[in-house]
Amino acid sequence: MIPPLIVGNWKMHKTIAEGVDFVTRLRGRLKETTGRNVVLAPPFTALYALAEALKETGIRLAAQNVWDREEGAYTGEVSTHMLVDAGCHYVIVGHSERRALFGEGDALINRKLKAVMQSGLQPILCVGETLNEREAGQTFAVVERQFKEGLKDISAAEAGRIVLAYEPVWAIGTGQTASPEQAAAVHVYIREVAGGTYGEEFSRRLPVIYGGSVNPANIKALMAQQDINGVLVGGASLDVESFAQIVEL
Ligand code: PEP
Repeated sequence: MIPPLIVGNWKMHKTIAEGVDFVTRLRGRLKETTGRNVVLAPPFTALYALAEALKETGIRLAAQNVWDREEGAYTGEVSTHMLVDAGCHYVIVGHSERRALFGEGDALINRKLKAVMQSGLQPILCVGETLNEREAGQTFAVVERQFKEGLKDISAAEAGRIVLAYEPVWAIGTGQTASPEQAAAVHVYIREVAGGTYGEEFSRRLPVIYGGSVNPANIKALMAQQDINGVLVGGASLDVESFAQIVEL
């Protein structure tokens, strides 16, 4: 049994004070998170303050992005060891906004994943098709390519720490969620691809989470699907009450 994983991706929202206030109120609101892994991904600027605020809560910290080199002349970038230093446990790699707005392709995502694998961080690799790709019947081919190219030359032992996030681009921030059946069908396919690449045991243990307009009203139906092991939540993670309801499933 893979414990449910709930990740809140704040994107470019919240100052340090707002982030710490969120955590204080979430701690007061959540009765318990036993049996679930809860993660918050604030902007870089709030990482360290949130690491302090999250101490002894069991809630872990993720970064939203990382660069693939350890240090050097890479203005504006942050390395894996800086994220570990700031208190991160996870890092999101290949979010569709990074792919679409910042030109990140599979080759760069692969380099980032290789750097992450050396660092001890757990990567959350996002894959997912655009609306045009879905309508053209390319959903499975797109997620398969993103999985295989993203994990190219990465061994099963290294990839053992990965979390896969299926995030159909047409469902992100649109209010239009994939139906539980649509999401589950892609999760099953990702598991098949993972099995073909790394073997059955790897595939059975791989956490595959869903992202795309998850909210308190649709969380139960999504989590009722056997192959959905958790959720990556954008908009609904910005509000304490709606995030708490999602965490409580
Ligand atoms: C996301 O940012 O990964 C996401 C799924 O956003 P939203 O929940 O707002 O669709």
